[in-house]
Amino acid sequence: MDKVYNHKDVEDRIYEKWEEAGYFKPEINPKGKPYCIILPPPNANGALHFGHAMFTVEDILIRYHRMLGEATLWLPGTDHAGIETQFVFEKKLKSEGKSRFDFDRRTLYKMIHEYVEEHKGNIQNQLRRLGFSLDWSREKYTLDIDIVKIVHKTFKKMYDEGLLYRDYKLVNYCTFDGTSFSDLEVVHEERISPLYYIKYGSLVLATTRPETKFGDTALAVHPNDKRYQKYIGKELEIETVLGKAKIKVIADESVNPEFGTGVVKITPAHDFNDFEVGKRHKLELRQVMGFDGKMNKLAGKYEGLYIKQARKAVVEDMRKMGLLEKIDENYISRLGLCYKCKNVLEPLPLEQWFVKVGPLKDKAIEAVKSGKIKITPQRFENVYFDWLDNLRDWNVSRQIVWGISIPAWRCQNVKCQIRRVDRNKW
Ligand SMILES: [Zn+2]
Repeated sequence: MDKVYNHKDVEDRIYEKWEEAGYFKPEINPKGKPYCIILPPPNANGALHFGHAMFTVEDILIRYHRMLGEATLWLPGTDHAGIETQFVFEKKLKSEGKSRFDFDRRTLYKMIHEYVEEHKGNIQNQLRRLGFSLDWSREKYTLDIDIVKIVHKTFKKMYDEGLLYRDYKLVNYCTFDGTSFSDLEVVHEERISPLYYIKYGSLVLATTRPETKFGDTALAVHPNDKRYQKYIGKELEIETVLGKAKIKVIADESVNPEFGTGVVKITPAHDFNDFEVGKRHKLELRQVMGFDGKMNKLAGKYEGLYIKQARKAVVEDMRKMGLLEKIDENYISRLGLCYKCKNVLEPLPLEQWFVKVGPLKDKAIEAVKSGKIKITPQRFENVYFDWLDNLRDWNVSRQIVWGISIPAWRCQNVKCQIRRVDRNKW
C-alpha cells in the first residue's frame, strides 16, 4: 500500500464504476414515492467556484433518499447564461482586436456556440470530480431543442394568460454593453455626486443630473407646499443654456418638500419616478440621449457629447450665464450600476417584453404565509416579503444575440401590422 493517499488513483476509478453501473439512475416505481432535485445549472462555459459547494447539500439529500429506496433523480444541466457568456466572448474578441459589431447576428451566434461547446466539458468534469451522484444520462443544456420549445410554449402560455405584455417604458440600460437588464441585475451603490441648484425663472431647483434638463417637460412641487401654491398650474418663462423656454409647474404627491428647495424638474424619459409622474400628468416623453450614451439633437449644441461630458459642459455654461445658484459637492446619491461593467446604468425608454408580476407575487406571498413553504431561518421571511412587495414588472428582453430569442415577430404585411405604441402619448 502506498504511504501517501493519491486521490487520482482512487476517485476517478470509483466514480467511473458508479456511473457505468448506473447507480445514479432512478429505478422508476409508479407505486413508490419519487424524489427529485434539479441541479441549479452552472454556466456552461464557466468553472465551478466556491459558491457551488452548496451542491454538496443536494448530494447528501439525494443519497439519503436513494438509500430510503425512493426513485431518486438528481438532474444535471448547464446554463447558456446569455449576457454572462456573451460578455466573456466579447472580452476574447477585444483581445483579438475585434468587436461584436464586426459580425452579423448569425455569425456571432455561431461563434459563441462553438466557443461554449469547446469549454462545456470542464464544468461536467469538475462536477464528476466532486463525486456528485448526478444522472448524466438525462443531462440537459438550456439551449437543447426540447428545452427551447418548453421556453417558447411557456412564453405563449403566459402571454395568453395576460402575464406577459409588450410596452414602451423605462428600463435599466447599459450604454457600454448595449443591452437592458432586469431590476434584479442592477447593483446599487451610494456615491458622492454633486447636487446642482439651478435657476428656473423665479424658482430654484436641485438636481444631480443637469444634462437631462433638455428632457424636462414640467417642474413639480408637493401639492401642500405653502411656498409654491401660487405657481401650481402656471407656466414659467425661463432662460436656459439653449435660449428662452416655457415650462409648466405641476403638483404631485411624490415630490419630497424636504429635498433641495422642494421644487424638482420632471424628466419622464430619463428617471423612473419622473416617468410615473409623467404618466399621471400626461407629460411629453422627450428622450435627449441615445442608446450609445451620447446626447441627441434635442440637446442642441451638446449633441454628440457623452453624458458625463455634457454634464460638465452644461454646468459650465450655466455658471457663465448666472443660472447656477450653488453646488452641494458632498451630496450622496444611490446609483444603479451594471453588474458586468460597473458603469452607471441609464434609465432609457424602450419597447420591451415584461412579466406582469402582480398575480405571481400574490401566490408566492400566500405560499409562505399559509406555511406551505417554510423559510429557514424564519427571520428571513420579512426580507422575502419586502422584496416581493417592491417588485416591479419584470423586463425579460435583452439586446444580445446569445440565448433564446423571444418568440414574437411582426408581420411585414402592412395590413396586419399591430398598432405600434405611440411614443409620445400615454
Ligand atoms: Zn455594462
